[in-house]
Amino acid sequence: MVAHDLAARDIHDERVLAAMESVPREHFVPEDLVDAAYEDRPLPIGAGQTISQPYIVALMAQEARIGAADRVLEVGTGSGYGAAVLGRLAAEVWTVERHEDLARRAREALEATGAGNVHVDVGDGSLGAPDSAPFDAIVVTAAAPAVPDALVAQLADGGRLVIPIGPDGHAQELVRVTVRGEHSERAHLCDVRFVPLIGAEGFGRIHPGQQRRDGDESGPDGPRTDPGTPPEP
Ligand code: SAM
Repeated sequence: MVAHDLAARDIHDERVLAAMESVPREHFVPEDLVDAAYEDRPLPIGAGQTISQPYIVALMAQEARIGAADRVLEVGTGSGYGAAVLGRLAAEVWTVERHEDLARRAREALEATGAGNVHVDVGDGSLGAPDSAPFDAIVVTAAAPAVPDALVAQLADGGRLVIPIGPDGHAQELVRVTVRGEHSERAHLCDVRFVPLIGAEGFGRIHPGQQRRDGDESGPDGPRTDPGTPPEP
């Protein structure tokens, strides 16, 4: 997977490739999908959610330019796989998930894979984790309507926020916001398609009867089939 789906494409950061090589993805997928653990695609993990496609996890980690001494926040824990990768790159990682059941299972998988520097919290990650801020990097794994002010405010000077921006199910762009003193710079990275960030600085609550795809993402190679993730209740 690392050679064929990451290094052969545009993942060139050796630390990211080593981190991807070292995290056993089979620990983060349901038992009946273990055989598919090293396919470069999202897989359903319950609660209408999916574990991220490995390429996307690697791309976001690379674009966040994470250093070994960094404190990192991930918004959208899902299975915990992305957090495990970030944990191999950074000194300490905080990750926030809105689904309690997913957070519990992610904690178990992280513990089983020795990710002792990753802390899992339940809550609305669109507001960040103010008690643990500032962060050198923030990675958001669900698409927001606009760059959340709360997250930018929790970046250290020189900090990077990597986040998909755009409407649910439509064209979205992955951007990197870098804070320098009083200013911030925004760079377009690529076009993507992510599930919505649901929260105070996201898309707000889903109303009964509203059909919203709450599955996973696709990268710059175009849309990938979401393997049967139902809309969120
Ligand atoms: N990177 C994860 C992995 O490797 O398994 C997958 C993340 S999945 C694409 C996006 C996650 O964001 C979902 O688990 C979803 O419940 C979560 N999410 C959406 N809005 C959120 C919010 N405001 N706060 C925390 N988590 C949120």
